[in-house]
Amino acid sequence: MAILERSEWYDYARMTNWTPKFATEEEIFPAMHSGMADVPLSVFDSYDEPYKISYREYVDVQRQKDAGVYSVKAALERADMYNRASPGWISAAKLHYGGVPVVEYHASLMESRFVRFAKAPGMRNMACFGAMDENRHAQIQLAFPHEYVSKDRQFDWATQAYRTQNWGILAARNLSDDMMMTRDVVQTAIMLNFAFETGFTNLQFIGLSADAANAGDYSFAKMIQSVQSDEARHAQLGTPLLKLMMENGHEAEAQRMVDISFWRTWRLFAVLSGIPMDYYVPLEHRENSWKEFMEEWIIDQFERNLRDLGLQRPWYWDYFLEDLSEEHHGQQIGTYSWRPTLWWNPTAGVSKIEREWLEEKYPGWNDTFGKAWDVVIDNMANGRMEQTVPGTLPVICKVSNLPVVGIPFKTTKIEQITYKGENIHFGSIVDKWIFEQDPERYCQTQTLVDRFLAGKIQPADLGGALQYMGLGVITDPADDSMDYSWVEEYRAVAAE
Ligand code: MN
Ligand code: MN
Repeated sequence: MAILERSEWYDYARMTNWTPKFATEEEIFPAMHSGMADVPLSVFDSYDEPYKISYREYVDVQRQKDAGVYSVKAALERADMYNRASPGWISAAKLHYGGVPVVEYHASLMESRFVRFAKAPGMRNMACFGAMDENRHAQIQLAFPHEYVSKDRQFDWATQAYRTQNWGILAARNLSDDMMMTRDVVQTAIMLNFAFETGFTNLQFIGLSADAANAGDYSFAKMIQSVQSDEARHAQLGTPLLKLMMENGHEAEAQRMVDISFWRTWRLFAVLSGIPMDYYVPLEHRENSWKEFMEEWIIDQFERNLRDLGLQRPWYWDYFLEDLSEEHHGQQIGTYSWRPTLWWNPTAGVSKIEREWLEEKYPGWNDTFGKAWDVVIDNMANGRMEQTVPGTLPVICKVSNLPVVGIPFKTTKIEQITYKGENIHFGSIVDKWIFEQDPERYCQTQTLVDRFLAGKIQPADLGGALQYMGLGVITDPADDSMDYSWVEEYRAVAAE
């Protein structure tokens, strides 16, 4: 029997909406799950997914991807990648593995909600493959670090991190809860597929992949490329939905979802991608600066996407462009200073030659962030190590759950309001605006400092906090990845 071409049967197979007789539309697609309740089901038949694939094709392609990645991994195990990699690259890999794989699993649950509740048949179909994609991403990114656990226990954070109350995980989990887990499928698809995936996963998965290949970690590079090739497909399921929103009176909602999610994602990726790209990846292996990656992938491409759909740039665009040269530098000083609270050994990345590179890529760096590092370095070079780890807690943003930073010797970005008698702090004007969009959603968040003040962390000191965050339990608290050997060149100058 002849087999039909996919194009001959695809439209029949995917049109699975019918007129319900035994249940109401509201019962089948409850507004709180399905969204756009005022738009009739028939309108969603016009959703046209840009990427069409059959199950048979999907399984075949995915199998080939996995086979390719695992064969590279097997070949390189014999080459003993771990022992040859630079400490900076190991820092970047551990940060990635603790932060990313379990979020992939969250994304699989998210796509599964689309399969059930999306009103567009094409979206349900595409999300079915998306859920399988994300499951693969979780599994493969747990399998790779598992390999290294016997050499370095910090790699165990890949599986453990999201079971802890580590502050970085509180921030990532809060974003995942807000954008992936607790909104209707329309809002979720705009926030996650459109803003997060089409914009930012490129940075981590293409940008970091280039750095990984340069650093000689080909199995990491190959693995995350295979992840990104799935993202490039299922990320598209938000775009036809945005068109439907624009045509059916949901423009304002679409814009608001983009504005909220773009900012939240930007601030998290400043830590997840910005820090490793500009500080951890060995200088000679850096493909581009974080800002250059952002300019190529976000400023150019994302902005064009918005324009094509009839959406505006987020209202805070100018503020964001400034933040591009600021936020991750502040977070690098912050994370490095509070290094015992990390699940990876951080790399300072501020040797003299690296500082020249930073000044070249970010003119003015030496006069601001550099000066703050001068104080840290001076203490280290003169043996005052206890002064290089802060004795107090940082102010934490109620929305991003990240420490509030600014530009040293210039300005802080802290914002503040009083809500229901509580003093609430934010790391930027945009985080404050996000809170004001839906105060009840955000006010219940307990940041690590809120938990501390509520007496949940005992004993109420650094030791108690580390214990609370799983440090000293799963692994010892982290320390400088190079064992401070980079301080030597400064110590030599001080001696002269
Ligand atoms: Mn994924
Ligand atoms: Mn995805």
